[in-house]
Amino acid sequence: MSTALITGGSRGIGRAICVCLAKEGYDIAFCYRKEEKEAEETLRLIRETGAGGTAIRCDVSDERQVKEMFSSVYGLEVLVNNAGISSYGLIQDMPLSEWERLFSVNVTGAFLCTRAAVAKMRGRGGCIVNVASMWGETGASCEAAYSASKAALIGFTKAAAKELAPSGIRVNAVSPGMIETQMNARFSEEEIAEFVQGIPLGRQGTPEEAAEAVRFLVQSRYVTGEILRVNGGTVV
Ligand code: NDP
Repeated sequence: MSTALITGGSRGIGRAICVCLAKEGYDIAFCYRKEEKEAEETLRLIRETGAGGTAIRCDVSDERQVKEMFSSVYGLEVLVNNAGISSYGLIQDMPLSEWERLFSVNVTGAFLCTRAAVAKMRGRGGCIVNVASMWGETGASCEAAYSASKAALIGFTKAAAKELAPSGIRVNAVSPGMIETQMNARFSEEEIAEFVQGIPLGRQGTPEEAAEAVRFLVQSRYVTGEILRVNGGTVV
């Protein structure tokens, strides 16, 4: 049986990816940082599809915890580096600790999980999908740390794709625009309505639509180093 490991699977886009890949016949392992109740709900949804599911509490920015998580996963074929955090504010007000917090999850977390996954995939091949962001391509005002971290993740994706192709490991990223999840809960209805005006498809995306793009990259055997936009046409 092939296993797909999804980081940050307890809600939002990560949960939708877990369910989507479970429907494709993968055994699912996913991690979360602290929301046990949410993780249980993801497990229930995975098992409803008939697939096996395992929830692992692991902070992806912690090297020891990542090592432990990967030691409990067998038959790894797919890794989705989805866990991510955002932060909003002016550059001049941002403490160094906040900048480092974002990078430690969004960039270092993806690096640590990729390094651990490669050790398991070497010899049998595999596929890694990183969840970047439209803001990593364009930059967003008041989201400098987030934008920079996602730009770094895009650079990491391209470098890893070249380095790991000879080992039969494909590395791609999805680059979502505004997706309706808890991450955007801090925005008011008015702010969201204003943002939606700039989306040619006229609405936010759903977590399931982001997950479909991940599935496409998992299944496309001749695609590597690609950054697939899922943004309703906001950035083309
Ligand atoms: P949510 O905030 O809804 O979910 C984030 C998930 O990541 C949760 O499961 C959370 O677990 C987990 N997580 C956070 N920090 C860590 C950590 N240190 N270690 C392990 N797990 C962690 O976010 P979304 O679903 O919206 O976002 C998922 C990804 O998509 C992120 O990388 C985000 O940057 C990206 N994205 C989102 C967009 C959007 O508009 N929503 C747009 C573009 C990209 P727990 O609850 O336990 O903390």
